[in-house]
Amino acid sequence: MIPLSSQSRVNRLIIPARLLAAALLFLGPAGMQAQQLQSPEAFLGFPVGADNKLAHWDQIVEYMYMAGDASDRIMVTELGKSTLGRPLILLTISSEENMRNLDRIKEINRRLYDPDSIQSEEEAQSLIAEGKVIVCVTCAVHASEIGSTQMAILAIHRLATEESPYIRNILDNVVFLFFPSINPDGQVMEVEWFNETFGTEYEGAGLPQLYHHYTGHDSNRDAYMFTQVETRLVGKVLYHDWFPEVWLDQHQMGASGARIFIMPAAGPPNPNVDPWIYRTAGLLGFAQAQALDEAGIAFDPALVVLGNGRLDGGERALHALRSLDRPPTAVFCYNDMTAIGLLSAARGARLSVPEDLAVVGFDDIPLAPHINPCLTTIAQPQRDMGRQAMNMALALMIPDDSTTPVSDVVVKGKLIVRESSGVEARQIADPKP
Ligand SMILES: [Zn+2]
Repeated sequence: MIPLSSQSRVNRLIIPARLLAAALLFLGPAGMQAQQLQSPEAFLGFPVGADNKLAHWDQIVEYMYMAGDASDRIMVTELGKSTLGRPLILLTISSEENMRNLDRIKEINRRLYDPDSIQSEEEAQSLIAEGKVIVCVTCAVHASEIGSTQMAILAIHRLATEESPYIRNILDNVVFLFFPSINPDGQVMEVEWFNETFGTEYEGAGLPQLYHHYTGHDSNRDAYMFTQVETRLVGKVLYHDWFPEVWLDQHQMGASGARIFIMPAAGPPNPNVDPWIYRTAGLLGFAQAQALDEAGIAFDPALVVLGNGRLDGGERALHALRSLDRPPTAVFCYNDMTAIGLLSAARGARLSVPEDLAVVGFDDIPLAPHINPCLTTIAQPQRDMGRQAMNMALALMIPDDSTTPVSDVVVKGKLIVRESSGVEARQIADPKP
């Protein structure tokens, strides 16, 4: 059985999993030199991403200013106040040398953005050679997608202190515009609500108010309208000051996300968007995927329990998985009988499926749609498999020119989504990014 996720709980506030996709660009091998800047863990008193621990916006802002004081690579600017009066800050990050030349770099980018200001191809090439890539990252416009703002502390510590060729390469070539949160009010609401309800019967309940004072989840939709102070402050950096070549807006999927936000985007492509945008975004996506691979998301053998294909094997598997320090919140069973045994044991353990534990089987046996909850499973094309097997057997028994030689055959299974995986329910509950 392979658990699909090891998050400790699933709720509308998305607790940072041990690996945040958002953080992967920055989570690499250790070897960073803490100069004067305190490590994130020493500062917070817990490792970033620890279960049930969230840094508050006040702490994040304090850490960002500490990083700015400790490092010549980082400048912290308060752009203004959020709707409810909290500081909305921008970090500008680059090599020490680039930081001394920021005005010139900004001017080059402005001219490259405006072709009318350039007289010739030679001039354009010379500006490109002299300029830097401007990359903007905005975190947590959707405040319940809380991971990226927590990740900010790790990223900034690393960019401020690390001397590796990897980080040096970024600093030398990129001016990095980093917003730890573009909705600080929502960050505070979510963190305070989580801390207030943690350990109570309301733990895991969604925030009972809008996490942006006026626009709630739709704070990102305001990017076409600029009615809110947060959008205006960010828009000024993007469209008046810097014109970044890359803008990464950090979102975070819940447990129902089959894939997290890694480009290339799913089709169909918008015909109004230049195909080059998709192509180059795909390059960034592959780089992220490579970073995931290099981070070596370790295979944990404890998460695979050997079954026997029968009901009792599923029951035993549930107890084995439940005894782990971090029990999984989703399990894939290699046949439906195992899944049904596991569901029965889950009922005995007072776990609700799919809220506490999502379950997927394999086979789509006739019982699968009739148990409670109905089992999500994978159907196999049994008639087709039988026909092909018989043809292959015949080809072995009666070889002649008209029969196809025996070879490997791959058949296609079909995912049948029912209640036990909870995907449909959660897709309705989780607003689109
Ligand atoms: Zn989002």
